[in-house]
Amino acid sequence: MKIFVIDKKYEELKKKNLQRNIIIETGILRALFTCFFCRGCIIYSAKEKKILNFFQSFFRIPYLYGSIQSIVQFENQYAKVKHVEIPILMYHQFVLKPEEGGKIKLFVTKRQFEIHLKILKLLNYNTITFEELKQIGLHNRFNKKYIILTVDDGYKDNYTILFPLLKKYKMKAVIFWVSGIKTNKWTIKSDGEKEIHLLDDSQILEMQNSGLIEFGGHTLTHPSLKKLDDIDATREIIEDKKNIERTLGKTLTAFAYPYGHRKESTKKIVEKAGYFFAVSTDTGSGIITEDYYDIRRTAIDKTSLFDFIRKISPGYLQYKAKKYRNRRR
Ligand SMILES: [Zn+2]
Repeated sequence: MKIFVIDKKYEELKKKNLQRNIIIETGILRALFTCFFCRGCIIYSAKEKKILNFFQSFFRIPYLYGSIQSIVQFENQYAKVKHVEIPILMYHQFVLKPEEGGKIKLFVTKRQFEIHLKILKLLNYNTITFEELKQIGLHNRFNKKYIILTVDDGYKDNYTILFPLLKKYKMKAVIFWVSGIKTNKWTIKSDGEKEIHLLDDSQILEMQNSGLIEFGGHTLTHPSLKKLDDIDATREIIEDKKNIERTLGKTLTAFAYPYGHRKESTKKIVEKAGYFFAVSTDTGSGIITEDYYDIRRTAIDKTSLFDFIRKISPGYLQYKAKKYRNRRR
């Protein structure tokens, strides 16, 4: 992210983060012009300026003013004003025919998923993982068209259907695997769902080694973390992380709350466990840098092709977050 400074706060910013591309720009016009055409540019001014307010609201040229508490404020403001964020999609099961899917119908068919991948290719999206996002740097995440495909629970079909398609199109995904049980016990118990097997150790190792799939934590047994006390929640999160890390021989970066359920204390537990990101379902502002432990996702199961195209637009997560907040009021 390039930050155009139009007054004398350069030294302060430089101290905050040296990796940033900070440009001292005395001319407001050049700053405005560049920020209008370039992705990931923002203007910084020590004092509020009416002219910049005007450009921000009418031409979506983002700017920040006042004292800077944290450098992350720039990313937040950029995402908010431009109405953009990396789309983060959520899948579950993959089936050959709809009849094979579970009762809750959290699935896409092989055919549908292949079309999704073709559309992403056509629109020039780069699929990345959370580990890659961390490496790229949150401040560089708007420089290219990135998207993250996530898959919850780690069903066997992730190996037989999802994995071959990812190889075919050379695209990536993140699977949040339940490591402590062999089948979907949590849905069998509550909804009388049929039994579906989860991935085993050798499959997850092979998938990781392909370089196309990153694994993340999703607890040992898929409980609602809202209903557990902190001691049980800690066990579910930490033991699961240890299990997967032992199998894969590497540290995990991201975690997904089962059902998207969590308390405020759950977020702390996840952070303490050493995760860098945690994804939810229908909570979170739709801006990653606002809360790394409440990253909103878009559910793709039961989505028509038209809806899919709508859901991968960079402004969709924030649109949903706003709609959801309004409804709750
Ligand atoms: Zn789940």
